[in-house]
Amino acid sequence: MTSPDPLGPALPSPLQQTRDARFERRGLRLLLKRDDLVHPELIGNKWRKLVPNLAAAGGRPLVTFGGAYSNHLRATASAGRLLGLPTTGVVRGQELAGRPLNPSLARCAADGMRLHFVDRSTYRRKAEPEVLAAILRAAGAEDAYAVPEGGSNAEAVRGCRALGAELRGHAEVAAVACGTGGTLAGLAAGLAPGGRALGIPVLKGGFLEAEVQALQERAFGARTGIWSLDDRFHFGGYARTTPVLDAFAQDFEQRHGLPVERLYVAKLLYGLLALAEEGAFARGTTIAAVVTGRPFPEPGAPGSGPSVAGPGSPASAPAPPER
Ligand SMILES: *Cc1c(COP(=O)(O)O)cnc(C)c1O
Repeated sequence: MTSPDPLGPALPSPLQQTRDARFERRGLRLLLKRDDLVHPELIGNKWRKLVPNLAAAGGRPLVTFGGAYSNHLRATASAGRLLGLPTTGVVRGQELAGRPLNPSLARCAADGMRLHFVDRSTYRRKAEPEVLAAILRAAGAEDAYAVPEGGSNAEAVRGCRALGAELRGHAEVAAVACGTGGTLAGLAAGLAPGGRALGIPVLKGGFLEAEVQALQERAFGARTGIWSLDDRFHFGGYARTTPVLDAFAQDFEQRHGLPVERLYVAKLLYGLLALAEEGAFARGTTIAAVVTGRPFPEPGAPGSGPSVAGPGSPASAPAPPER
């Protein structure tokens, strides 16, 4: 597969050594796999998942699905603008249709994505063929190439194998935050034999084990590689945060100069430190934390006022955004 040119990335993404006394004290090395630097607009794992789908789409318009703050919707909209492909985003939440767009959806619209809002119960049933067909008809996207919510299908999972392959010989454990689990499914398959992948789900519910396995079965025919999930670090669910998590993320930013994306990356890094402190990793282990994203809106960017995902959000922020 050749990557479309305007999407040409810098691969492999940088692998940075950190000096972090909290890990060093336990004989551990922490590396940051900077997938947030792969492409300026298609951030991190979204690039790895979308590019194979763009090849499969063969120049057809794209339609995909997401919540009001979806990183995947923004990445798809950017790809559409860069490649000159029409895109349609099916957004969860009919009630959003009458309101001003939030910064994430405004970015999608500015990139030319047509937004089609659907009520939550219909959205939930979009895997049913008749429901999907009706949504696509209503959105005027019947002929488009459909990328699933979060971008995770067999093509995407196979695309994420390269992430694991880039870590061969560098780390024994590769850790990633999980939404749909597509990135973990591919990462685990790409690691060297004996390498171990660890997923930190950011959604509550404990349903991901079966989904990651199903994604691997579709992409590779069987469960592949050594991987596990630790379900203890979702902090209440998608886009939920607590003062403890915010303080941790701010401190990490100061220690390492890394902008810490709050929906996923903060929970991953917090989970890794907690596991290190529990003694979950043998001394001498090198752990690569995959930095799958960066904050949006970027701090200081227009429209980057207090956002639900921003630092300093109260833990009790009402109506957190959904994926
Ligand atoms: C989408 C996303 C993830 C989750 O990827 P999945 O493949 O859906 O598990 C993790 N981190 C960031 C920053 C993301 O945008």
